[in-house]
Amino acid sequence: MEKANKKLVVALAGNPNSGKSTIFNALTGANQHVGNYPGVTVEKKEGFKSYRGYDILFVDLPGTYSLSAYSQDEVVARDFLINNRPDIVINVLDAGNLERNLYLFTQIAELNVPMAIVLNMIDVLRSQGRDVDVERFSALLGIPVIPTVGTKKTGVRFVLDAVIDRYESGAFIKSQTAKVDYGEDIKIETDKVEELISKDAALNAFPKSWLSIKLLDGDQLAVKTVLKTAGGAQIVKQAEKSAHHIWEHTGRKADVEIASRRYGFAKSVVKTVISETAGKKTDVTEVIDRFALNKYLGIPIFAAVMYIIFKFTFTLSGPVVGLFGSFFKWLGVFIGSLIGQGQIQSLVVSGIIGGVGGVLSFFPLVLFMFFAIAFFEDSGYMARAAFIMDKVMSRFGLHGKSFLPFMISTNGCAVPGILATRTLDSKRDRLITMYCAPFMICGAKFPVFALIIGAFFAAKYQAAIMFIIYILSVVIALVAAKILSKTVLKDEAAHFVIELPPYHLPTIKGLLLKMWERGWLYVRKAGTVIVLISIIIWAAFAYPKTDANPNLSAGENSAAQLTNSYAGQFGKIIEPIFIPIGMDGKKSIALVAGFAAKEAVVSTFGTIYAFGEIKHGATGPLKEAIANDPAWSPLKAIVFLIFCLIYTPCIAAAVVFFKETGSSFKWLALLTIGNTAIAWVAAFAVFQLGSLLKLGTG
Ligand code: GDP
Ligand code: MG
Repeated sequence: MEKANKKLVVALAGNPNSGKSTIFNALTGANQHVGNYPGVTVEKKEGFKSYRGYDILFVDLPGTYSLSAYSQDEVVARDFLINNRPDIVINVLDAGNLERNLYLFTQIAELNVPMAIVLNMIDVLRSQGRDVDVERFSALLGIPVIPTVGTKKTGVRFVLDAVIDRYESGAFIKSQTAKVDYGEDIKIETDKVEELISKDAALNAFPKSWLSIKLLDGDQLAVKTVLKTAGGAQIVKQAEKSAHHIWEHTGRKADVEIASRRYGFAKSVVKTVISETAGKKTDVTEVIDRFALNKYLGIPIFAAVMYIIFKFTFTLSGPVVGLFGSFFKWLGVFIGSLIGQGQIQSLVVSGIIGGVGGVLSFFPLVLFMFFAIAFFEDSGYMARAAFIMDKVMSRFGLHGKSFLPFMISTNGCAVPGILATRTLDSKRDRLITMYCAPFMICGAKFPVFALIIGAFFAAKYQAAIMFIIYILSVVIALVAAKILSKTVLKDEAAHFVIELPPYHLPTIKGLLLKMWERGWLYVRKAGTVIVLISIIIWAAFAYPKTDANPNLSAGENSAAQLTNSYAGQFGKIIEPIFIPIGMDGKKSIALVAGFAAKEAVVSTFGTIYAFGEIKHGATGPLKEAIANDPAWSPLKAIVFLIFCLIYTPCIAAAVVFFKETGSSFKWLALLTIGNTAIAWVAAFAVFQLGSLLKLGTG
């Protein structure tokens, strides 16, 4: 009879871009499953492999530089290591950047889990004219070290054997792993804290030495955890006292001192195991960085790269997006002809196919964007971009990498813009960036501004006013970011050392994989909700039915249908709210439609002013009708534009935002209701002041 296989859980941990996923893929092949960690938006990747009588479950943990409580990824990785207690942790290190990578190692080692090291990117190390003494490395750290080149799968086949050999020989005992010596000053203090921790039974599950260092480090999550227990307050008090002592003794804050000890450890390991070989090739990274980080060239190069990503996303994807659009139009016509005229046809064609098409038409765009981003990420340039922009962006509480989502949203779309925040590491930076990106003037808002500006301002001023509106949108986003970082997200300020990994050429397979994983998540997460909401919105405009009046033109009939529909009635009901800001029922209905999709503001005006369907760009007559409508004035036009700039983004953006915040209703409410309220206040102030001063009221 066959013996049942023994189960092993193996976690892969490491810095972002160390090649973790490459190793993970090489180890598990196609046997993968992507899910989510409960309650957060961090992806959970698992892979499976049976080998030598073991059923091994591999978990590809999120890439992190540290195990502090700064970012969601770090918290997920450390929770997994502590709570799930994997049988073995494989720490993937980038050999070309060993010192920085070992910083994370020092922290995992403190968790007292059995470890092995995969020393990846040996090729990069060699190309730097250096070599590594693997035996010495392994002896020094007390754990197996397996050198690999992930992209070529070199050495990967030794990983499984090394791990299982050690596991079976029983030599895989945790205490063997080398740990950082924090020195006398810190040791005395951690001992005091540890003693209190060991008395608290509720804290048994945590490695004592790890928890005590975390407390001295001022780690908020550790403090919170400890405070939940009976003796918690006393422990935290001791930790604070200890941190103060360390500061007195060393002249440096405890967290700084702890970090510098860890770096010291990493540095000395590198000194011991890495050797310079003769024939050192020119360091490509150094040469490229001389340009990329140059005082004068840095920003232009950055702008050029952003432009390339933008162009790639919105122009090159054009034909594919067009093809998708035509397909859905064709599908609509085809299915429509099968069903025949009537309500069902309208539901299927306008509601369902329109909704599904709306979601899927973004899909090629999102894929193109993620491909372009992945290229610059994997090559190492994105880190330089963040480095260059960080100085400016951090003044507004943003991260250097926040720039990209803003860029994607401007004249593009906030949906991929919000998704592009996935490149940000900390939850706080992501939240601020996601919240502010929809303030940018996207491709769908542009026609609204063009219509209104075209109707009320002389041709020679139009470009200038449009430009001012663009600047204003950026100012609004930056102010919002500043306010958020000073209020709601004040306590979560995270300071990252922006890592500058060596450049290397990405592999096509890696890029395609990243593109697909991120893109598919969009369809899976946002798809269903957006389709459902499209149907509801369709119904709100299609019902109740108004019988066609034969004495009216087709345009007038559809105007009547619109004003009598539920959406139209709703616009009427909320009209009183809009009167203090100079708006009437027509505008409020258009703004309600704008929640469905921003371009719907223009088409709704078209319907209301009884022009029927507005064909692309043919807004000339509508412009005139609006200009001649006494319900408008230049001041009211400006107020309308200001309201449009600030109020809630469209449904698609709101849904994606909601999903990406980890389904937070609080944040969703702030984005939709909150922004609309702020828009109202701003519009009110401008309208009342303008009326008082009789500016543009004529
Ligand atoms: P992760 O962020 O740790 O999951 O890293 P990935 O597996 O996505 O790898 C980051 C980049 O490094 C990708 O472009 C890989 O193709 C590349 N890469 C992975 N392993 C190696 C290696 O051993 N040598 C070189 N030169 N590149 C590698
Ligand atoms: Mg990865």
